[in-house]
Amino acid sequence: MKVLRSPRTLISWRRRLDRDGITVGMVPTMGALHAGHRALIRKARLACDALVVSLFVNPKQFGPREDFARYPRSFTHDATMCRQEGVDLLYAPSLEAMYPAGHQTSVTVREVSARWEGAVRPHHFGGVVTVVAKLLSAARPDIAFFGQKDFQQTVVIKRLVTDLNLDVTVRVCPTVREADGLALSSRNIYLSPGERRVAPRLYAALQAGRAAMHRGMTSGAEVTRAMKTILAREPLVTVDYLAVCDPMTLEPLRVVRRSAVLLGAIRLGNVRLIDNILVGR
Ligand code: AMP
Repeated sequence: MKVLRSPRTLISWRRRLDRDGITVGMVPTMGALHAGHRALIRKARLACDALVVSLFVNPKQFGPREDFARYPRSFTHDATMCRQEGVDLLYAPSLEAMYPAGHQTSVTVREVSARWEGAVRPHHFGGVVTVVAKLLSAARPDIAFFGQKDFQQTVVIKRLVTDLNLDVTVRVCPTVREADGLALSSRNIYLSPGERRVAPRLYAALQAGRAAMHRGMTSGAEVTRAMKTILAREPLVTVDYLAVCDPMTLEPLRVVRRSAVLLGAIRLGNVRLIDNILVGR
């Protein structure tokens, strides 16, 4: 497995593959790889001839009071997992290589970034979109793989790809969970034992919303109430949002006619957790 540290070297690597006409897959990550990342990497490995995993903790997607400094970093562990999974290239650029002095361009996706995560974390999607645009334009993958875990992010990135005519297919892969339903996340290690016990209630709330819809409930407000009831019993939990939304626009649905995405975000102490379920009718 090759390790590269700068956009220039990634661009040269990719250019050499053009001559062979092989398909390139990319899995963008912030490292601290877990079984959710591993599942994405495996899907990508099967679908593509050459596979790039990027590993970059992107400061631009963290707000000033967020956890950039204490975000977990584990390069040796991550490199071992990538090697085990047959990754061809681990792209781990330095901060200076990604954002050299003078860097001043950012990319914004407006409407679908505005609500939910965007409302709670106003800097977040601007940073995500800018770094993903940089990664995709340097690596030029045929297919880029993202987790459904970050549902709004997948909607935002699909918009970016469509609007900028990027020649890449975005593939969204299912959320990998612990046995008790908690979605795997690099931040789960920061949960105290008490918080860890409560954390799966977020998924339980989303499941309660889905069950209500399956029983025939069509009012978005009532489905939201069904979800909120589950978390109202949990004193450690602060709800950022629970919502029933159109899966394409992410606008809240007053009446659920066809499919919906149930979105949720909570805080447990200093840790923020997000999750979602797609429900078809
Ligand atoms: P991150 O390193 O958190 O930026 O995540 C990198 C990619 O892995 C994103 O596309 C995430 O949506 C995806 N991912 C994170 N957690 C999970 C999970 N539990 N299941 C599936 N994909 C995930």
